[in-house]
Amino acid sequence: MKWYQLDVEKVEQKLQVISNRGLNNKQAVERRKQHGENILESKKQVSNWILFFKQFQDFMVLVLLAATLIAGLLGEYIDAIAIMVIVLINGCIGFFQEQKAENSLEKLKELSAPIASVLREKQWEKISSRDIVVGDVVRINSGDRIPADIRIIKSNGLETEESALTGESLPVSKHATAITADNLDVQDQTNMGFMGTMVTRGSGTGVVVGTGMKTVMGQIASLIQGTKKTITPLEMKLAELGKILIVVALLLTVLVVGVGVVQGHPMYEMFLAGVSLAVAAIPEGLPAIVTVALSLGVQRMIRKKAIVRKLSAVETLGCASVVCSDKTGTMTENQMTVKEMYLNGEYLYVTGDGYQTQGDFFLNKNKVERTHPNLETMLLYGLICNHSQLMVKKGKNFIDGDPTDGALLVAARKLGLQADRKEDYHVIKELPFDSDRKRMSVVVEDKNGMKMLITKGAPDVLLPRSTYNLDENGRSLLKKEDTRAIEEAVYHMAGKALRTIAIGVRILPNNMDIDSAMIENELTFIGLYGLMDPPRKEVKSAIRECKEAGIKTVMITGDHAHTARAIASHLQLIPENGLVFEGKQLNNMSDQELENIIEDAYVFARVTPEHKLRIVKAFQNKGHIVAMTGDGVNDAPAIKASDIGISMGINGTDVTKEASSLVLMDDNFATIKSAINEGRNIYENIRKFIRYLLASNVGEILVMLFAMLLALPLPLVPVQILWVNLVTDGLPAMALGVDKAEGDVMKRGPRNPREGIFSRGLGYKIVSRGILIGIVTLIAFMVTYQNNPEHLIYAQTTAFATLVVAQLIHVFDCRSEHSVFARNPFGNMYLVYAVLSSLLLLFVVIYWAPLQPIFHTTALSIIDWLLVVGLGAIPTVLFGYSKK
Ligand code: ADP
Ligand code: MG
Repeated sequence: MKWYQLDVEKVEQKLQVISNRGLNNKQAVERRKQHGENILESKKQVSNWILFFKQFQDFMVLVLLAATLIAGLLGEYIDAIAIMVIVLINGCIGFFQEQKAENSLEKLKELSAPIASVLREKQWEKISSRDIVVGDVVRINSGDRIPADIRIIKSNGLETEESALTGESLPVSKHATAITADNLDVQDQTNMGFMGTMVTRGSGTGVVVGTGMKTVMGQIASLIQGTKKTITPLEMKLAELGKILIVVALLLTVLVVGVGVVQGHPMYEMFLAGVSLAVAAIPEGLPAIVTVALSLGVQRMIRKKAIVRKLSAVETLGCASVVCSDKTGTMTENQMTVKEMYLNGEYLYVTGDGYQTQGDFFLNKNKVERTHPNLETMLLYGLICNHSQLMVKKGKNFIDGDPTDGALLVAARKLGLQADRKEDYHVIKELPFDSDRKRMSVVVEDKNGMKMLITKGAPDVLLPRSTYNLDENGRSLLKKEDTRAIEEAVYHMAGKALRTIAIGVRILPNNMDIDSAMIENELTFIGLYGLMDPPRKEVKSAIRECKEAGIKTVMITGDHAHTARAIASHLQLIPENGLVFEGKQLNNMSDQELENIIEDAYVFARVTPEHKLRIVKAFQNKGHIVAMTGDGVNDAPAIKASDIGISMGINGTDVTKEASSLVLMDDNFATIKSAINEGRNIYENIRKFIRYLLASNVGEILVMLFAMLLALPLPLVPVQILWVNLVTDGLPAMALGVDKAEGDVMKRGPRNPREGIFSRGLGYKIVSRGILIGIVTLIAFMVTYQNNPEHLIYAQTTAFATLVVAQLIHVFDCRSEHSVFARNPFGNMYLVYAVLSSLLLLFVVIYWAPLQPIFHTTALSIIDWLLVVGLGAIPTVLFGYSKK
């Protein structure tokens, strides 16, 4: 027997589970041990050894090793060993950096791993999909990816899309009854849900019958490619830049070697010096450090509740110029409370906040009772056409399900209607809510066998479907003036920033086909609910900060235009003359017309997911970099089309999460702002260490070149050059990578995505400072060499120390786009420690006798140090206060 042929009871028996209770924890633990995790095994990862040896693959490093070997054969043992050790240390550092980056990306994957809703010991729990075991009862909703192979036991208009398995992209509707036929293909097993397929509509429950590799998806695991490592645009740009820099560095090195040989330096000495110089000057590690900086930034973002799914988003975030955000749940708390009702042509006011069930109903300051005409009917119907449950956690009420539904449930409780009142009405069919339909309906049968349809949804959707009106005199035809009064009431409630829901009923004739597409018609209009969804506290200031940062915030909502404008004004999102557009209006506009008005638009109301896509495109055609949020199933195309797709961690569906590059763990608009802030900061930090590293390299090459041109001996020996590359360049550069933002990153406009790395004066800064570093190092060498021509080592030590000190002072200049004095030098303690340890290590190689022969150094006096520091400070003092 196959699972699809079994009754639900048989399935339960076989799997030893009761479907309204779920597995107990002991069973779950045992089964997990027995069958393993619910994951598709992916390909093996790169081993650490391979990662380690990769560090030495670099061409120039290989040449250096070969040159060292030759030096060793020629009898220069000490130099040879010293260089080997430095290369080895360099490799280790590279290895640890890459491993760190790799690990943090792994952790990220785990963070964004799918979550499933599972029934365990009568409690619905959210657990990681990998912990699901056979026999678990899981709940699925539209937008979910089904976490394992399941036998459906309950379906509310459930439809799934199984193209990953069948190639068929039309949704398949799913039910719970057993199928007698045998040998069915996947697409015909209509009471089964398969791992990895998508729920496109409705909701349902299922019992897990297969997990991990024992699923249909697992059997064709070849379909699933391993996750490819993608390269971000910045990494690509840097890789290209790297190639140019390699050529330039090589040319300069060849020049240094050539001039040196012409000036009479021995060939092999120049060769080793040249290779060391090339190794030091070629920024081969740049892309790797950038990756590290990006992934460290990603970790900082996680702490701020933003999960980056695509590394490239980090860079793009810094360019964002428009943020299109959902209103409900992102700008607001998504905690709804019914504050007003419109019934019998009158307004009722409802007291009580949040999901508290205490509260009363007032008509003109007079409390009304349960006997108030139609009040109980309206609230009861709101309770029946409802998917939510009221739960208590730590003494606080919360809603499991849609907060809109929750508000209606709580309102019913205020009149004393308990959830068990629903039991008198048997639900035969459900037409689920989605943001295209903007309504939800149920078909129910009461104890007397009477069938009725209850519909709730946006008033402008329900009114055209209503034929009758209910008031204290009973049911009558819906007259023009009734409609006008209702529309006025909607407008009145919306003006108070209330979200409006209308509710209606239809007694179904006995011969009515309940599957008819026309069923949601001829409704009797009962009344309106006005729901309060308070804006989140942080959002107002976040919108203001975005504005200061040159980023426009646009509100996108399925809600009524008037409600949306009221909230937008409250949040100061929309200026006096800012425009609000409705989806209807967009339908009558061409794309060109939309582009023409889009700069003045701040709110889009009553939109469908399709409109979102057009809005994204219109902004993009205007040259904007657009961030777009979404939560529902149908939002995926707009999210994909935007430059930064943002999904919701709590209320988002799997589909939107997969399409997005950023997930907000707290669904909060303010988190978008933090992420943009962090994105800008990371880019600035990358600029900082590129500036530092390249200026250092320019200095190193130039001091050698100048010396050769002036027919001087080598101012630095190969080990010293390699040392500077490793210790002086490496540590502080990493510290720059985690620097704090300069005060004004959120006060300037967004970065132009097409701007090069060297723009905004960076190239000039690198070259000018680099030249000066080279010159002061040369001066240090010449001054000491002149004094004492037979002590070459003394002059080389002074030059070495000057180069190091000049760079370590210059690193503080690199922290600012404005002036070295603009920032507190102790603001980045990592940098202070990095600089101090570099200095300490410099002292060690200069003063510790055993290392002196290895590094060709000799002890310096206080006077020498005055010279070193005096010269070393010049590049920074001369330029440090200028913006250029
Ligand atoms: P948004 O999330 O931007 O507020 P939605 O698409 O969720 O937009 O909702 C649009 C409209 O649909 C709401 O203004 C409301 O009238 C109606 N609506 C929302 N949720 C429900 C629900 N659970 N059942 C019925 N109608 C709903
Ligand atoms: Mg919504």
